[in-house]
Amino acid sequence: MDDPVILNESPHGLRREMIAHEALRVLTRLDEAGYKAYLCGGGVRDLLMGRTPKDFDIATDARPEEVKRIFRNCRIIGRRFKLAHVFFRDVIIETATFRALLDAAPEAEEVPLPSRRRTDVPDPTFATRGGVIVRDNVYGTPEEDARRRDFTINGLFYSIADGSIIDYVDGLKDLEHRVLRVIGDPETRFREDPVRMVRALRIASQLDFEIERHAREAIIKCCGELKSSSRDRLHEEMLKILNCGRALRVFERSWQKGLFQTIYPGFSAWLQASEGHAHLPWVKKALRQFDVWKEAGLKPMPALQHALLFGPYIEGVAIALAAEGMPEFEATLQAVNTVLRDKTNLTQIPKAVVFDVERILGIQVQMRKSSGQSKYASRLRHRNGFDEALIYLKFAGGIDPARKELADLWMAPAHEPALHSRKPEHAHPREQAPASKPPQG
Ligand code: ATP
Ligand code: MG
Repeated sequence: MDDPVILNESPHGLRREMIAHEALRVLTRLDEAGYKAYLCGGGVRDLLMGRTPKDFDIATDARPEEVKRIFRNCRIIGRRFKLAHVFFRDVIIETATFRALLDAAPEAEEVPLPSRRRTDVPDPTFATRGGVIVRDNVYGTPEEDARRRDFTINGLFYSIADGSIIDYVDGLKDLEHRVLRVIGDPETRFREDPVRMVRALRIASQLDFEIERHAREAIIKCCGELKSSSRDRLHEEMLKILNCGRALRVFERSWQKGLFQTIYPGFSAWLQASEGHAHLPWVKKALRQFDVWKEAGLKPMPALQHALLFGPYIEGVAIALAAEGMPEFEATLQAVNTVLRDKTNLTQIPKAVVFDVERILGIQVQMRKSSGQSKYASRLRHRNGFDEALIYLKFAGGIDPARKELADLWMAPAHEPALHSRKPEHAHPREQAPASKPPQG
């Protein structure tokens, strides 16, 4: 194996003060205890580019049990591969022991193991059942750990001991040339874990990087493999895309590669047909809106994002159902379920999100029945989901002149009769705080 490229502190510009103090604390304590302590993944990549990382991950040669001995505020999680989570007030620092190259696709993590009370006991390092790897605590060297990562720019280490960057995978060169390159053979790595294709498009779009040609070709060739990925994981990836600040660009790139069509075949077929094609500006504007929100530091509810993204498609299905005689409100709820629970989608949209989308679109029907100032309207304004429904209406009004008038009526300050207390309807889990401001533009 080749020697790594090592960049000493001064030339690379990543200084320890740039690292969040919690991560820095974990790094220094590990180092003081005599272990290798590296910042890794997106944290190094983003700091080298002068960006603020989303999170800081740490790689070390300390075993999870050893990390736990150093930090009182530490829990060991995971069964197939154990990780140490070091808890601070606001953040968790994930600390992983260097992993060997030998690996199975992450989906294997779902293979059930008999329950074990304690996960912090020394573990037999490797176990299979029926040929499936169920536990592969085969720890590796730093180099192996770097090579099992997805892209070269994600395979860099920052060593706290001497402030150097350790590069086993030629990541520094790619970072400089703004190229996203798969570590190893792209096709093999994408087949191993197809979610990497989605990550490639998101990360390249976020950073404004070119995807290296072989990887681009492999995505076009392998996108069908996504069918074997976990639907929950793909939903999580989709949320990351919607909130990455470059959602529109990811959509365009993934459409071009056929990846979007693989994940949402029904929606994509509709977008390609004449009716849906006419609504493409809406879909693109919704994605651009997510990017604007991100830029403004706002975090919309996933349900609002799903409502906006799939809105015209859902409304089209609802209109067809209503034309067959179904009452408008019922038709809307059914359309939400038809579209979002479509089994051909490769993402599993959680029930709570579908339920909140029902509310947002159901309230649209109810808003059409009032001018926004009646007692009925006042009750509606106090319904859960109303704020998001109003954002949706304002967004629709910005595209469809027919809805603009209704949106203006509802956006006008209400004459509050002050009769109503804000009673919660069903207690209902929210994934994230709602967007607090209506969309601009
Ligand atoms: P961001 O946190 O900004 O979304 P990231 O690259 O840090 O980007 P994480 O999901 O935080 O992404 O993962 C941390 C690191 O773990 C990655 O940089 C990469 O080295 C490795 N990694 C994550 N997912 C995979 C995967 N599917 N296959 C191989 N390595 C992965
Ligand atoms: Mg990260």
